[in-house]
Amino acid sequence: MIDKLQALKQQALLDLEAVSSLEELKNLKVRYLGKKGSLTEILRAMGALSAEERPKVGQVVNEIRTELEEKIDACGGLLEEKTLAEKLANEKVDITLPGRSVKIGHLHPITLTMREIKKIFMRMGFAVCEGPEIENDYYNFEALNLPKDHPARDMQDSFYITEEFLLRTHTSPVQARTMQSLEGNAPIRMIAPGKVYRRDYDATHSPMFHQVEGLVVDKNISMADLKGTLELFLREMFGNSVKVRLRPSFFPFTEPSAEVDISCVICGGSGCRVCKNSGWLEILGSGMVHPNVLAMSGFDPSEVSGFAFGMGVERIAMLKYGIDDLRLFFENDLRFIRQFK
Ligand SMILES: [Zn+2]
Repeated sequence: MIDKLQALKQQALLDLEAVSSLEELKNLKVRYLGKKGSLTEILRAMGALSAEERPKVGQVVNEIRTELEEKIDACGGLLEEKTLAEKLANEKVDITLPGRSVKIGHLHPITLTMREIKKIFMRMGFAVCEGPEIENDYYNFEALNLPKDHPARDMQDSFYITEEFLLRTHTSPVQARTMQSLEGNAPIRMIAPGKVYRRDYDATHSPMFHQVEGLVVDKNISMADLKGTLELFLREMFGNSVKVRLRPSFFPFTEPSAEVDISCVICGGSGCRVCKNSGWLEILGSGMVHPNVLAMSGFDPSEVSGFAFGMGVERIAMLKYGIDDLRLFFENDLRFIRQFK
């Protein structure tokens, strides 16, 4: 019996030397020391031994078990160290590799232009107001002196969602909403920047574009205030040398109304393709707020007066950056966008 045990131990030690992975070691431990392992089997056979032999054999079995356990644990420790060392060697980080550069975006030319416009008016004490892009017929047209059958509605054909609701064709409804919320209490000094929608699409029109409209209402506001404010804005935007002129025009919500031109920023006024050889560029629409509009929004036209103006942000950006096709703004071509860093 003892010889058998010694032979088993020798075999176990030989097997242990051949082990090269933790998985193999685990199997070996089960094979010799597990519940159905070789050593356990020998222990079961001890019942057949005599009373004198039993303790001797038991002692040998315990010695062998302890020795094997110690050696297996030691081997396990070594194998773990080896595995870790291999893992570290394989996962070595090459710190001399050049880093990956972070791509930083920048603002779209429309956003840049919009921000500049806002900045100039905010410096003059204007508040920035916003309103919904889905607007009802009342705020988009009627409150601006454009009743249902008014022919000027044709100038602004839009996208109707229902008979009553449409995508706003201008930011003017924000002015109407602001005026009504003040319940006749002047003064008002605001701009309304935002997206607007019309059914146009060509080199100078897009179905979605951006507008900034402005409104001032107070006692004794005159055409001179309108001209002075817009002249200051246009000089800040296009440079001090720019000349400004007003031309009579028509808008249903202002009376009198005026188109505002600046001397051509491309040719300086001598005539070129952009200004169609006139030396002037149409830049915004303006006028004194129509008494009907004031009255509809709760203001007394005999007490207060006001002026309003509106401009297309794309038009301003095109002139400022020398862009000849408005559609470029919305095609998301990075070769175009990256030029405005
Ligand atoms: Zn020109």
